Amino acid sequence: MNTSTPSPLLNADLHCHSVVSDGTRTPEALAERAHANGVELWSLTDHDEVGGQDRAIAAARALGLPYLTGAEVSVTFAGQTVHIVGLGFDHHNPALVQGLRQTRGGREARARDMADGLAQVGIPGAYEGALQYVGNPELISRTHFARFLVDSGVCKDTNEVFRKYLTEGKPGYVPHRWAALGDTVRWITQAGGVAVIAHPGRYPFNATEEFALFSEFKAHGGQGVEVVTGAHHQADVVKYTGFCAEFDLQASRGSDFHSPTESHTDLGRLPDLPGSVTPIWTALSERVHT
Ligand code: AMP
Ligand code: MN
Ligand code: MN
Ligand code: MN
Repeated sequence: MNTSTPSPLLNADLHCHSVVSDGTRTPEALAERAHANGVELWSLTDHDEVGGQDRAIAAARALGLPYLTGAEVSVTFAGQTVHIVGLGFDHHNPALVQGLRQTRGGREARARDMADGLAQVGIPGAYEGALQYVGNPELISRTHFARFLVDSGVCKDTNEVFRKYLTEGKPGYVPHRWAALGDTVRWITQAGGVAVIAHPGRYPFNATEEFALFSEFKAHGGQGVEVVTGAHHQADVVKYTGFCAEFDLQASRGSDFHSPTESHTDLGRLPDLPGSVTPIWTALSERVHT
């Protein structure tokens, strides 16, 4: 990457998932797909886990693809789950590694409770079923349950599974307490990285709660927000471009790619960032693996 003039138009894709969390492709296959799709700066951001980083760094390097370390951390804020993407950190930093380990820790018990809830509505064996799709047992997620429920014919697609079974108030939903916002931002920034609010357009917050999220994130030292992401419509892009100015945040861009059959946005196939924002990679040129 030309580090002297970081362009907002760079084809950066700084959000995706591998088999190390709930994606269906290996870090190596994702590196190849990103490269083939014209990505110029890439990051693998598995949920609550940095176990794929060394593989992603090596695969990207072999392709000449500039790379930033990444992770997407699950946070509980105002009673809801919020995702914070960390970029450009030292993935061996002990406090970060320990914080992520602690964040993943409750997933197995949660998954067993989810399966109990599903059994009560006549869907037995969902824990064992979901496990068949899991690459990393510490990272069992709702996505793995969704794959099991689609492949076993209970639902026609993952959207239907989430709508009927895995969202608040539904039989397979189990409330869970994830990491705290301030801890998460500190783990990332003290490991030399930057923290970014992931897909803000997806949270069920009212304006007051959303203002609190952005204000507190900023007060803790958060630096960025995803303006362009697979889940955003044009109205979201406009809205969060405004938030960049209001909260003095830099803009990130990432597909949130999980799988060719489940994700509607492929790696690197995203609209450009608006010209008026400062791209998050401006702050990260020293952190790029080449
Ligand atoms: P978990 O971390 O176990 O709560 O699972 C969250 C993951 O489920 C997200 O990262 C997405 O990959 C996936 N997900 C959440 N909501 C939906 C949805 N409505 N449709 C499809 N996948 C979803
Ligand atoms: Mn996911
Ligand atoms: Mn997310
Ligand atoms: Mn994601």
